[in-house]
Amino acid sequence: MGFKGKFVKFIHKSGANKPGGYVHDYATWSFMLTNTSWFGSTPVRAYITDYYGRNSREYPFVSKGGETLNFNIGTIDWDWCQGDVFILYDQHGREINQWSFFLKEYGPGECPECHGTKKCGSCHGDPMKINPDIYADNYFIKCNHCHGTGKCPTCDIPYHFDALGEPIYVPPQAPKTFKSVITLQHEIEKKTQQINQLKGDLWKQKMQGKNTATMEARIAQFEKELEVLNRQLSDKMRR
Ligand SMILES: [Zn+2]
Ligand SMILES: [Zn+2]
Repeated sequence: MGFKGKFVKFIHKSGANKPGGYVHDYATWSFMLTNTSWFGSTPVRAYITDYYGRNSREYPFVSKGGETLNFNIGTIDWDWCQGDVFILYDQHGREINQWSFFLKEYGPGECPECHGTKKCGSCHGDPMKINPDIYADNYFIKCNHCHGTGKCPTCDIPYHFDALGEPIYVPPQAPKTFKSVITLQHEIEKKTQQINQLKGDLWKQKMQGKNTATMEARIAQFEKELEVLNRQLSDKMRR
């Protein structure tokens, strides 16, 4: 069972290609999940969440070998924003893989293309030019660089917004070390179960008069790991 996933940019055409004004096109992102198996099908569960786990949704589905599915605003009404995560679980709730949506961010004025104006470096925010060829079908010619959005493609990053309309900050980090709230919760649950199991075994072994030093060391190690996980989770919840 193998899966490949990637985030792909979509341009939504909203501008009428006719005289009398137009609305700029806009971009959203889509997550494409491909089952790389040759055949067969397997029940899985997709878990999609924002970085802080405040907004999430879940989709159980059967994934067919060779099939590609798109998760986006059109298919599941999810508009991908910076820091969002797609986590794939198998039917037993074990994590198969996860993909984080992180685009490179620039500080104020630091974008090498627009230097902070947020406008396309080629058309400067005016992506539809009147076609000089009066016999052409298209009244407007669209900017090739921003594909009609007028926005700087280098720093056009979608964010979730808070109640005050401010973009919600997510710390930039490598997807490999990223742990979403849901993953941390799963790991904490699992670690707690392991500790309880070990403690039960320890009690039995003590009753039988066995040497329990190794087992006690293991419990101490697990409890330390649990503490780290709990700290990571509370760090996330505090933001
Ligand atoms: Zn820019
Ligand atoms: Zn442009």
